[in-house]
Amino acid sequence: MIDFTLTKEQTELRERAREFAQKYMLPYAHYYDKTGEFPYPILQKCWEAGLMNLAIPKEYGGPGLGSLEQCLVVEEMAAGCAGMTTSIYVNSLGAEPILIAGNSEQKEKYLRPLTESLNFISFACSEPGMGSDVAGIQTRVKKEGSHYVLNGSKFWITNAPQADTFTVFASLDPSMRHKALCAFIVDADTQGLKTGRPVEKMGHRASTTSSVILRDVKIPEENMLGTEGEGFKIAMKTFAMTRPAIAAFATGLARASMEFARDYTTKREVFGEKLNNFEVIQFKLADMYLKIEAARLMYLKAAWTADFVGDSTIPASAAKAFATDVAMEVASEAVQIHGGYGYIDQYPVEKLFRDAKLYQIYEGTSEVQRLILARYVLSGYEPAMGKIPRWYNNEPPDF
Ligand SMILES: Cc1cc2nc3c(=O)[nH]c(=O)nc-3n(C[C@H](O)[C@H](O)[C@H](O)COP(=O)(O)OP(=O)(O)OC[C@H]3O[C@@H](n4cnc5c(N)ncnc54)[C@H](O)[C@@H]3O)c2cc1C
Repeated sequence: MIDFTLTKEQTELRERAREFAQKYMLPYAHYYDKTGEFPYPILQKCWEAGLMNLAIPKEYGGPGLGSLEQCLVVEEMAAGCAGMTTSIYVNSLGAEPILIAGNSEQKEKYLRPLTESLNFISFACSEPGMGSDVAGIQTRVKKEGSHYVLNGSKFWITNAPQADTFTVFASLDPSMRHKALCAFIVDADTQGLKTGRPVEKMGHRASTTSSVILRDVKIPEENMLGTEGEGFKIAMKTFAMTRPAIAAFATGLARASMEFARDYTTKREVFGEKLNNFEVIQFKLADMYLKIEAARLMYLKAAWTADFVGDSTIPASAAKAFATDVAMEVASEAVQIHGGYGYIDQYPVEKLFRDAKLYQIYEGTSEVQRLILARYVLSGYEPAMGKIPRWYNNEPPDF
């Protein structure tokens, strides 16, 4: 039976995240967007409220929650501030390779500290020369005795300057593409690892993004995740787990855009009437609502698949592609409804519009999601109609 009812615990968790977003995120979103400062005080509060690192199992000190619960939380938070939520959620992205492929010692050593105090872990996959083509990683890794040595550059790494730990992807031989990729846990204070200055961004300005330079970074072999050559699989499994949450982020941002637009229509008068009296505007709000509802259903299905079925690659890509387009469309319509005021920073929709764009880019662009879906439709999908009959059939049935 299909049941959309949340459990008592899920409802309470969502309420807690909503209250947190309203009390600690939304009122400070403008400040951090303007200054580009890292929102330490907010993240500290978030950690204290038990709203970070939700997937860490109970045996390592975390709450051991599923993808569904994480999605419910990030929808609320992203409605408060997308940038802060990126800073908060990147701990889940950074930790996911350890959850997927770590042994118990690695989990004890690197997951438990995240639950004991505010610590940061970042995911270092992308490079200046590649983001979509994960198999094209150029960062090299070489085995030397009981160590691995890393050399290369990573780029666009969220929270890199704050990170205590990185999960890093590197290649034994770039000509072997995905077959040569390996994943590692790297302590940020390892000799030879440096982070660059945070780059200036269009949106999500409450999260930091910078390069990570690896020069003869020597790490013990026990810091490898899985085995040599398993890195690509670990990265793909990571995305299958985290993309439903990006869809939930996008849904939260779209919901906030609709709510700000709805509010504005009750106040602004044009041609002697409130905006919300015009059917064109009412229909814009209706379309926003429709799209948000559909985006939410898609992330819920993707998260449910991750939690209860297994491989969530396809529903996660579908949810991410759909919900991130919805965020962009709804934020754009929210700006439109605000007219000139939508284009200046006097109202929040200007920020939401800038923030929405990133969802279509990080954790696999919208085009990459469509590549995954197209490959599935053409070679994995089982047609429900089986064999397609000949269309030009002029014979009546003989039964
Ligand atoms: C603010 C921010 C934070 C980020 N955080 C992280 C992080 O924490 N960790 C991390 O590892 N990375 C991070 N990234 C990197 C992000 O994941 C990449 O930017 C993204 O995957 C796209 O890669 P790219 O920028 O190299 O674009 P490219 O791969 O160069 O793509 C350029 C364009 O070509 C399209 N394209 C690519 N391949 C194809 C194809 N085969 N067919 C059709 N079109 C194609 C893309 O969709 C895109 O439109 C972050 C990026 C940003 C902007």
